[in-house]
Amino acid sequence: MDPQPRARRRPRALRRAGLAVAAVAACTAATLMPTVWSAQAAGSAVTVLYKTSTGATADEAEPWFEVVNNTGGAIPYTQLTLRYYFTADANVSYTFACAWAVVGCSNITGAVYPMPSPTSSADHYLQIGFTTYAGSLAAGADSGDMQLRLYRSDWQNVNQADDYSFNAADTSYTVWNHVTAYQNGALVWGADPNGAAAGSGSPSASASSSSSPSASPTGSSNPPPAGVLFDDFNYTGSSDPNLAAHDWSVRTSAGGPGVTGATWSASAITFPPSTAAGGTHVMQLTASTDGTAANTIQAEIDTTRRKFLDGTYAARVHLTDAPVSGPNGDDVNETFYTISPLASCDDPNYSENDFEYLPNGGWGVNGPRMYTTTWYTYCDSPYSQDNSSTSVVASDAGWHTLVMTVHAGTVTYYIDGSQYWSTSGKYYPRENMTIDFNEWFINGYLNGSSTPRSWQEQVGWVYFAGGAALSPAQVSSNVAALQSAGTSFLDTVPNS
Ligand code: CA
Repeated sequence: MDPQPRARRRPRALRRAGLAVAAVAACTAATLMPTVWSAQAAGSAVTVLYKTSTGATADEAEPWFEVVNNTGGAIPYTQLTLRYYFTADANVSYTFACAWAVVGCSNITGAVYPMPSPTSSADHYLQIGFTTYAGSLAAGADSGDMQLRLYRSDWQNVNQADDYSFNAADTSYTVWNHVTAYQNGALVWGADPNGAAAGSGSPSASASSSSSPSASPTGSSNPPPAGVLFDDFNYTGSSDPNLAAHDWSVRTSAGGPGVTGATWSASAITFPPSTAAGGTHVMQLTASTDGTAANTIQAEIDTTRRKFLDGTYAARVHLTDAPVSGPNGDDVNETFYTISPLASCDDPNYSENDFEYLPNGGWGVNGPRMYTTTWYTYCDSPYSQDNSSTSVVASDAGWHTLVMTVHAGTVTYYIDGSQYWSTSGKYYPRENMTIDFNEWFINGYLNGSSTPRSWQEQVGWVYFAGGAALSPAQVSSNVAALQSAGTSFLDTVPNS
């Protein structure tokens, strides 16, 4: 019932005193739910993003597209077609051209067809297809830019005001369901002007097009759509309405983990400008203390919706071995993790995977040390825990790409492309989780000074691709494609 990730405890073997830290987190039933969820696909194999830099009257239409593969398998581009619907202004023909595309303009085909059943906003459509040389769109990947042109053959201005697929408001890539996508001729994304919609159970009759591939009806061998989440944290602050609209919740509720009586503050989550991780901003978590509980502030941000399980999780994270101000020596924890609520003591469905960096050690061991831990369950009182964990003593100060794959019964952790650790069997998530970051002080292990100090963890981006264990290289490639297309946020992961 508690959408807030719980108190986070000490990994393995340290059941020492002071377990009041593991106090029950407050049940925040009033947690904000996003009011904007246009990016949601109801489990579509692909999602189409659209942008244009043209107005209602322009010398040409510029329908630019990206396609995101929401499945855990590669999709050959030849299986895909897109349709952009418009009203031809006069009795003139229209011409397609490709200005630039990541997949290569020579690998993109385009042709204009009349609508079999014209509507007031569409009597023609531009159909985009791909040649075999376009290759495949990898699992969890974004096609990158397709900068397309559509213009009157007489070179007069086009009137786009009456065009079904045109949206002048989409000046940056935006999920747009007025462009349709077909896989092997079956509608898999969007709604056409005649009312056929992907996932509505009334698939469009797409047969009339000459260029619809007549692929084998055995259908796609792709796994079910699982979706993609990407966020490069381009926000103004913790009160930016887009943050909540994008399903993030900054923790302000009291409770563990960390210093007993500490405050979890919205002001501890900020978004300073930085290009260090390829975007325009980074998310910054600041934990500060002067040694007293009253003046200890910890930082946590979580997805509100619990919808992540099978798939690949990744974040670009900046870790530190020293405070940004004040004296060193606190046992501090800098994290990236996924978690589900503990329904009750020893909940058999409880699920949690952690990256936890302890620059000064903690839990009775020295540092700097990175823990990776996969949980089976735990109990608050009397305290017990059941997890599998490993750690390595080494400095991880600086930027790192942390990847964890949860797929086919195995959880594998990677740091900067190298496998760090793997676990399976009972130590594998069993229910949907949130995605979370926090920074906090281990209770009872502050450095003894009364001089204020603060620690900062930064997160450049977070990425999730459902349904597959992607390699770290594929994650980097997919993220690079999103960033190069200027995509700051994308969420096609179906709500559970
Ligand atoms: Ca028109």
